[in-house]
Amino acid sequence: MKSFDELLRDAEIAHGHLCAGQILGVRMAMLGLELLGLDDPYGKDRKRVVTFVEIDRCMTDAIGVVTGCRLGKRALKFRDWGKVAATFVDLESGRAVRLAARESSKVLARNLHPEIENKNRQQMLAYREMPADDLFAVQWVKVAVPPEELPGYKSERIVCAQCGEGINFQREVRKDGTILCRACAGECYYEPE
Ligand SMILES: [Zn+2]
Ligand SMILES: [Zn+2]
Repeated sequence: MKSFDELLRDAEIAHGHLCAGQILGVRMAMLGLELLGLDDPYGKDRKRVVTFVEIDRCMTDAIGVVTGCRLGKRALKFRDWGKVAATFVDLESGRAVRLAARESSKVLARNLHPEIENKNRQQMLAYREMPADDLFAVQWVKVAVPPEELPGYKSERIVCAQCGEGINFQREVRKDGTILCRACAGECYYEPE
């Protein structure tokens, strides 16, 4: 595993800037992998890790950099819960650990560096220094990762009876004997203009 500083530099490049979220994300992901006993996410442990992220903020990019889990590899799963938390799953051992940033960490950062007025700078420094216990709540969990969620899953492609678009990975909806995509089944996030 690369050092904290090397990973932080990688995260800064991938994310576009250095911020408190990068520091928090690098620390969270390093701790998650460490707890799982995985130290080579780009080498021998490359295909072992799946990460569930619960927010789409700065931190999420750093987690992708450290774990090597990417959306396009199906190894990064997004659960839009608006929580600064992530669950790291070892597919080989079946173990999983969920880390959530403690609400108290912002107050602790303020107490640790009251001399720094800029919040982002204050948190950047404090999140580097604070013990992991002050930053994260750790919980061992079980995560069901069915075959169709796994990175290498080959799926048959099904066509939506209404719009005719192809659907992968068993995301189709069966309604009154008809196969529909999620949009046609009523979960659409867009409207035709
Ligand atoms: Zn950022
Ligand atoms: Zn459709």
